Amino acid sequence: MSIEIHAKKCIGCGKCAAVCPGSLIAMTKEKKAQIRRPERCWACVSCVKECPVQAIALFLGEDMGGLGGKMVVRREGTLLRWTVRLPDGSEKTVTVNSRDANKY
Ligand code: SF4
Ligand code: SF4
Repeated sequence: MSIEIHAKKCIGCGKCAAVCPGSLIAMTKEKKAQIRRPERCWACVSCVKECPVQAIALFLGEDMGGLGGKMVVRREGTLLRWTVRLPDGSEKTVTVNSRDANKY
């Protein structure tokens, strides 16, 4: 698995690079985030959750939404809205309250 970084949306805050546990993301001279070793990404989604402008999407494997599917997240206060976008254009969103994270 790996991530996709949308360069036009990236505002260069560096948060994704700071949270990646594998130090896989670097900032370019133009202050854009870039994944250096995509084959080493283990899909922890830390960078996806941290990005304030939804510039990062996680590519989904065939078993998780179909080949070519992507997942993005939008944060609204304590709510995380996870959206899966499939290659056919369809979308499904699941909302999780981060306050409930330790309930289960
Ligand atoms: S999903 Fe996790 S391992 Fe992959 S680039 Fe983002 S922070 Fe790093
Ligand atoms: S967190 Fe998002 S906006 Fe910030 S550097 Fe990374 S991709 Fe760019």
